[in-house]
Amino acid sequence: MEIDYQKLPKVELHLHLDGSVRLTTLKELTNLSDEEIYRKCVSSDSKNLKDYLTKFTIPLELMQTKDNITRITKELIEDLKKDNVIYAEIRFAPYLHTRGGLSYYEVIESVLKATQNNKTPKINFILCMLKNLDENENRKVIDYARIFLNHGIGGVDLAGDESMASLESYKELFKYAKSRKVPFTIHQGEVSSKGLDIAISLAPKRIGHGIKIIDDCELLEKMKKSKITLEICPTSNINTKAFSTVKDLPIKKLFDLGIPITINTDNRTVSNTNLNKEYELLAKEFHFTKEDFIKMNKNAIKASFLPYVDKLKLEILYDELVK
Ligand SMILES: [Zn+2]
Repeated sequence: MEIDYQKLPKVELHLHLDGSVRLTTLKELTNLSDEEIYRKCVSSDSKNLKDYLTKFTIPLELMQTKDNITRITKELIEDLKKDNVIYAEIRFAPYLHTRGGLSYYEVIESVLKATQNNKTPKINFILCMLKNLDENENRKVIDYARIFLNHGIGGVDLAGDESMASLESYKELFKYAKSRKVPFTIHQGEVSSKGLDIAISLAPKRIGHGIKIIDDCELLEKMKKSKITLEICPTSNINTKAFSTVKDLPIKKLFDLGIPITINTDNRTVSNTNLNKEYELLAKEFHFTKEDFIKMNKNAIKASFLPYVDKLKLEILYDELVK
């Protein structure tokens, strides 16, 4: 049976704010042509993850003022609503928005301002630590997440090119996050299975990507036992050449193995996608059913950074909407 992807209520956990700026906004704020904006901000020809990350240069240049940050966040929330996303966790790295003199506090406030008067979708933000930042800056991110925890911020992430530094050097940071009761996810296992053993041992609620777990049977077993949820981003994995084609993505295998997976866009603009497109792509290739997608959304609710009661409420709402 044909699935109405638009109608299906959706939950997204892995979505970068700076990778999801509307093309029309990028054009308006830069005065570049459609063709130039597309070439510089959309990944149609990336050679690898490093190359993919260059597509964030222009959006980040623009996201150094309070007004632009608030506007861009607001527009993303509107776009999620249009796609019938009922809950999303949007992530950003405060540090990347301080080049124009804004403080972490001002960056976070500018993002949160976009949710004032917003009823749907429900939004939580994740503050990203970065792999090339020194430890004190990253600790600051955890401290701010603690300050705003359950007041717009749900947890922290560690983002950046995973080949840059071993996860080993971030162990203390995650221990610190744990001691401050700040939930976390970690970008790992996007381009190789290296570092996933450390990621699993840190017992995060989720792992960003983690898809390369498929290359290591032993780790796969560990992952299964750990019940860590994976934030899978199909199109992004093709863009970064982590996998050559959709057919090569081990999403069905992971799903059938009982690993809790969720489907995400990673970056709506850079990957030129949305959740409806991602679901359609996967249904076509792997014959996922509506029930399968419902299960993935329920996995997302369970692994969300919402407080327990809010999570239950969201589950009830989801069941109502999907009837
Ligand atoms: Zn990501």
